[in-house]
Amino acid sequence: MPEAPNLNIPASASTVNVSIVNTTGTIYGLPVTQLFEPAIPGHDYLATPIYSFLIQHPALNRTIVFDLGIRKDFSAWPEGLLDTFKSYGISIDVPKHIREILDEQGVDTKSIEAVVWSHPHLDHTGDPSTFEPSTTLIVGPGVKKDVLPGYPAKQDTFILEADYAGREVKELDFTDSKIKIGKFPAIDYFGDGSFYFLDAPGHCIGHICGLARVTSNPDSFILMGGDIIHHSGELRPHHWHPLPDSISPHPFELSSSAPCPGELFHKLLRDGKEEPFYYPAPNKEGQQAVHFDPELARESIKKLQEVDAHDNILVAAAHEQYLLGVADFFPKPANDFLAKGWVQKTRWAFLADLAKAAGYEGKVEAAGDYTPRSKKE
Ligand SMILES: [Zn+2]
Repeated sequence: MPEAPNLNIPASASTVNVSIVNTTGTIYGLPVTQLFEPAIPGHDYLATPIYSFLIQHPALNRTIVFDLGIRKDFSAWPEGLLDTFKSYGISIDVPKHIREILDEQGVDTKSIEAVVWSHPHLDHTGDPSTFEPSTTLIVGPGVKKDVLPGYPAKQDTFILEADYAGREVKELDFTDSKIKIGKFPAIDYFGDGSFYFLDAPGHCIGHICGLARVTSNPDSFILMGGDIIHHSGELRPHHWHPLPDSISPHPFELSSSAPCPGELFHKLLRDGKEEPFYYPAPNKEGQQAVHFDPELARESIKKLQEVDAHDNILVAAAHEQYLLGVADFFPKPANDFLAKGWVQKTRWAFLADLAKAAGYEGKVEAAGDYTPRSKKE
C-alpha cells in the first residue's frame, strides 16, 4: 500500500467530543444517476440516512452543531417546490427536528453557539429558527449571495427568510487562511487545533467539511463530509486504497469469515483498481443542475482521497448508510472509532450496493440495516 500523503495537520493536544446524530429524516425515491455516474444495475436509489454532528469542546465549554438534517415541518416550503418533488416521485419523512433529538438526551441546546450548514440544501439546512436567537448560523463562502434572501423574497428556494431572521449569519472566508489540511484550505475554528472547517466546493457554492481531532496521542480525526460525496463509490477505490484482491469483512456476507474476492468487481471498475466506481454526474441540458460544478466536485473528492488514505481518520459523509451497522450514534460518542475499528469495518461495505451487478446471487446481508426504497411503503 503506498504511504499516505502528509496532510500537515498542525500538532495539538486539544480535542473535541463528537457524536454522529442520525437526524431520523429520510428522502425516498432519489435516483442515484442524478448524483453520480455511470449507472450500475441494481444500485438504483440512494439510501439516505442523514447525519448531523454534535461537536462539544469540553475545555472551553463551547458547542456547535454541523448540519441540521431536514426540517420537520417541511410543509412550510413553497408549494411549487413540494409539487416538483411529488412529480419526481420523491417523498420525505422527518419524525423529529434535530433540536428535539438533542433536547431529549439533555444536551444544553440553549447554549449552542453556532449551527453550521455544510451547504444550503434542504437535507442539511433544517430550521435554524428552532435554535435560540443567540445561536449563530455559519455558512461557507458565497452562500449568502447565492441563496439569501429566502422565501418569500425569493420564490424557488427551500430556505425561508424566517429561518434566519434576527440571527447572525456568519460566512466563512478562506482567502486569508494560512492553514492547509492536505490540499484543503482550512480555518481553525476554536483556535487550538481541535476543529477545522475545510473549503470543499463543487457540489454547491460554499460547500464545507469539518475535521475534528477526537483523540490525541495517538491523533485521530473525524471528517464530517456533508455531500462532498453521496456514496463511498465516488471516493474509493483510489491510489492509497486500491481495490483489494480479497475484501474483508465480506461486504455482502457479513457472517462469513471468508473474504470476498475483489475480482467480482473488476468488470465494474471504470479505470483500473485505483479509480473510484463513480464520478459526480455531469449537468444535463434542460435539467435542474444537481452539482453546481461537477468538475470542481471531483477535485474536492481527489483532495478527500488524500485524507481517506489515513487509517486514523474516519470519513463520515452525511448519507453514508454503512456507518449504520458499525458506528455508535448520538447520544453515544464517536471519539473511540479508532479503537473500535470503524474505518476498516466500513471501508468496503458500500460494495454491498454493487452485489447484483457483480453477479452475486445470494441474499445480501450487509452492515447498514437500511434498504434504499423507490418510495415510502
Ligand atoms: Zn445531502
